[in-house]
Order: sequence, then structure tokens, then C-alpha cells
Amino acid sequence: MDETGRLSYDDACDWIRRFAGEIAVNKEFLTELDSAIGDADHGINMDRGFQAVLPKLDALPGEDIGLACKTVGSTLISTVGGASGPLYGTVFLQFGIATSGPGPISLSNWLAGLDAAIAGIQRLGKAEPGDKTMLDTLMPARDALKQALSDGMNPAKALLSSASAAEAGMRATIPLVARKGRASYLGERSAGHQDPGATSSYMLIKAAADQWATSVPGSNSRSSERGD
Ligand code: ADP
Ligand code: MG
Repeated sequence: MDETGRLSYDDACDWIRRFAGEIAVNKEFLTELDSAIGDADHGINMDRGFQAVLPKLDALPGEDIGLACKTVGSTLISTVGGASGPLYGTVFLQFGIATSGPGPISLSNWLAGLDAAIAGIQRLGKAEPGDKTMLDTLMPARDALKQALSDGMNPAKALLSSASAAEAGMRATIPLVARKGRASYLGERSAGHQDPGATSSYMLIKAAADQWATSVPGSNSRSSERGD
């Protein structure tokens, strides 16, 4: 716990554990989504990666959130095949680079991490908004969070607004025609299905919103403007 409206090392690790738990619970669901427009492995891929991440996280000395995220990223890259291994690996590597250093992080630091993660996904996968990918969840989540912070919203509310935007973005992938990844092989037939990666990305943002609301004292009542 941190008294300054920031997320501690342990709570940041709990965000990752919370996400891993959501992936494990929704493994079949994510795979089912991927069976409609891909090769039916998204839940399996993600769960394999995060089951490998958990013991690595427990073994770290602690303190540096960036280092923990970088460890998550490299573990995902080395254990997950398909598109989501390198993509989620990049998410956590870039998040880790942006937040590296000892001690807790503010919500502005968290936003910088998300920004860097999105830039990393785009560098790697060359997707744009509307291509029916995880970016269609993460970009609205980032934009809503940025807006909420500039409006001076407290962390819990700001992340709640970010999670709502993420959810809307995820649902908005349903009518889209995929232009990247395996789903793009289907062309027009990819329309009418929710994108699996956009769905797991919503779980990532939702886990963060739930974690901040649970962990950060005063998160419901004070602005997150950085105290560092
Ligand atoms: P694979 O497609 O190799 O089987 P997964 O099924 O694990 O990998 O992941 C598929 C998800 O990856 C898609 O639903 C999509 O959200 C995401 N994705 C695929 N290609 C890209 C890309 N170029 N940019 C961003 N996200 C992508
Ligand atoms: Mg797949």
C-alpha cells in the first residue's frame, strides 16, 4: 500500500496475477472467439504464457515494477507462439521500460507505460485503429485515461472510465473486417465476430482498474497527479 495514490510493487504484481487469473478463467472463451476467425488458440496461448510468468514473478527480488514487467514480457516472448506472444511480450517489455526504476508508480506513469505499449504493438504489427486487433481496445482505453487524468479525476474513476472505453472498443470490433493477423485471411467473413486479442486486452485494462480500486488508498477520492 502506498499513501500517495500510487501503485506499489506488490500491487503492480497483483495486477499481473489478476490478469493471469482472468486469462485462466476465460481460456476456453478466448479460444472459442479465436475459433470463429482464427485458429482456436488465443486462450491456450495466453494461458500458457501467463502460467510461465507466475513463478518468474514470485522469484523476483521485488521493488522495480519495470523489471517485473520486462520479465513478464520476455517470458511471454519465449513461451508463446503465434501473434500474441510477441505482441503481449512487447506490451509488457515496453510498459516495463517506461516504468523502470525502484518504488511505486503514479497513474501518469501507468499511462506512460500504456502509451509505450501501444507504440510497441504498432511498431511490431503495423496495425491501425479499426483493423480489428487488440489496438481497438487499448487505444480508446489510453485516450479515455489521458482525458480522465487531464480532467483531474481520481485514479479509480479514471481507470473505470478507461475500462469502459476499452469495453466499448472491444465490442466495436464485432462488425469490423480484420485487416491484420490470421483473421484478415477471412476478409469480409471476419465481420460479425468479436476479436479475441481485443477481448484479452479488455481483461488487461479491467484488471488494472480493479487493482487500483482495491490497492491504492484514497484512489476513490483524490487526484492521481503525480507525487514524484
Ligand atoms: P495467432 O493469430 O498467431 O493464432 P493469437 O490467436 O494468440 O495468435 O492472437 C490473435 C490476436 O492477435 C488477434 O485477435 C489480434 O487482436 C492480435 N493481432 C494479430 N495481428 C496483430 C497485429 N498485426 N497488430 C496487433 N494485434 C494483432
Ligand atoms: Mg490464434
